[in-house]
Amino acid sequence: MEKTKTEPIECRLMVIGAGMAGMAAALFAARRGIATVQAGLTGETLYASGLFDLYGVSPGTRMLIDDPWQGLKRLRQDHPRHPFGLVSDHQIRSAMDLLTRFLDEAGHPYRGYPDQNARVITPVGTIKRTFRVPATMWAGVTALETKAPCLIVDVKGLRGFSAKQIVSTLKPSWPDLTAASIDLPRENRMGPKYAEHIARGLEVEAGRRELAEAIAPHLGQAKAVGLPAILAIHGTETVRKALGQMLGVPVFEIPTMPPAISGIRLKEAFDAHMPALGVNTFYQHTVHAISRLKDGRFVLEIGRTEPETTVVAEHVLLATGRFLGKGLVAGRQGIGESLFDLPVSQPENRGCWHRETFLDPRGHAINLAGVETDDRFRPVTADGRPVYDNLYAAGSILAHQDWIRTKSGTGLAVATAYGAIEAMDSFHP
Ligand SMILES: Cc1cc2nc3c(=O)[nH]c(=O)nc-3n(C[C@H](O)[C@H](O)[C@H](O)COP(=O)(O)OP(=O)(O)OC[C@H]3O[C@@H](n4cnc5c(N)ncnc54)[C@H](O)[C@@H]3O)c2cc1C
Repeated sequence: MEKTKTEPIECRLMVIGAGMAGMAAALFAARRGIATVQAGLTGETLYASGLFDLYGVSPGTRMLIDDPWQGLKRLRQDHPRHPFGLVSDHQIRSAMDLLTRFLDEAGHPYRGYPDQNARVITPVGTIKRTFRVPATMWAGVTALETKAPCLIVDVKGLRGFSAKQIVSTLKPSWPDLTAASIDLPRENRMGPKYAEHIARGLEVEAGRRELAEAIAPHLGQAKAVGLPAILAIHGTETVRKALGQMLGVPVFEIPTMPPAISGIRLKEAFDAHMPALGVNTFYQHTVHAISRLKDGRFVLEIGRTEPETTVVAEHVLLATGRFLGKGLVAGRQGIGESLFDLPVSQPENRGCWHRETFLDPRGHAINLAGVETDDRFRPVTADGRPVYDNLYAAGSILAHQDWIRTKSGTGLAVATAYGAIEAMDSFHP
């Protein structure tokens, strides 16, 4: 039987992508009252540590950045084509504030310093610079600063997080750090433990009490307790505070290896709250075909495995990510853009994609590939003209940036989404 298709949906903006750039763009558009439709799979968010990096490492020199604003000033001078050159500090601050306010309202508060990166313990015991930190991790930032006596705890059978490893790496600079490995009797002792299962189990009082009872005998002189980021999916702050009360000292989370519970938290917060802002969401849907009407509007066919819904949009924002997100595809002929066949700025040939050593501090040319835009975030042709007047791009698909090396994933996604939406709204009010 042939499927009946629904009436086309008309909107001012179609956001393609549901990673951090797409989510931020839809959020900023909704806050401006722009009728927005959004489609995309979960994207890289599920891998997210929960930390919102802005600018943590300078490219080339690998210098660690404590003041991201000073760092960005330098970056714009030394790398004028970097997409951070398209947004002002004020726009970046506004973008980050809007995002963290949204997450606060959704039950996931964030903390950070106005002008400095915070230092956070990583799951391997190194220290990472980042701009915004889930409130559940903030007591760890303070403990690291003061080097207070602290207990790091892991759960036996939970892979990818070893308290012993973290402590042995940090101990030279933090002598009063101790490690403990605990059992959770309600979890299956025989097999591996699953972080999501433990996290959901801690949403109930009995689960929290069991965890506190398992930690208490190891407490000693500790003034704070660090745990892997598994303290519930929803109401994490409540769970963290309740555990702290049971133990008599503050408890904090330490980011875990990807895929992480922090990513599930973000995904569920966006999934649940974006529709309430008025965004017409088609999550787990992709765009299958695109055409253009005579008046310039885009017609997009979206669906799960085949076209189910037609969207007619005055403007489109492309936030389809890089290779993982599937915004870019690499083949024998080079790197292409997957939806509009946009020109992609890229190394001359495949032989230039990578340097000889994977860890070469200068990075790899392929990681700077992407879509080039004008100063209004519209993808451009080789001679610098916008491909379409009403097509914008934001996030990791943009050329001339290597967010992995510069530790600027979320910051770049969110700042460019803000810049693109502001450009679209002010030039086409
Ligand atoms: C392992 C890992 C760890 C990370 N850790 C951190 C961290 O600690 N801190 C930090 O700040 N950042 C981190 N990031 C980076 C951050 O998650 C990314 O920079 C950011 O998600 C990039 O976002 P994006 O929206 O541009 O792309 P993506 O997240 O890749 O999203 C692309 C979106 O486009 C959609 N899409 C593609 N094609 C179509 C189509 N045809 N139709 C519809 N939709 C389509 C995809 O489904 C997806 O929704 C990490 C990323 C990874 C992979």
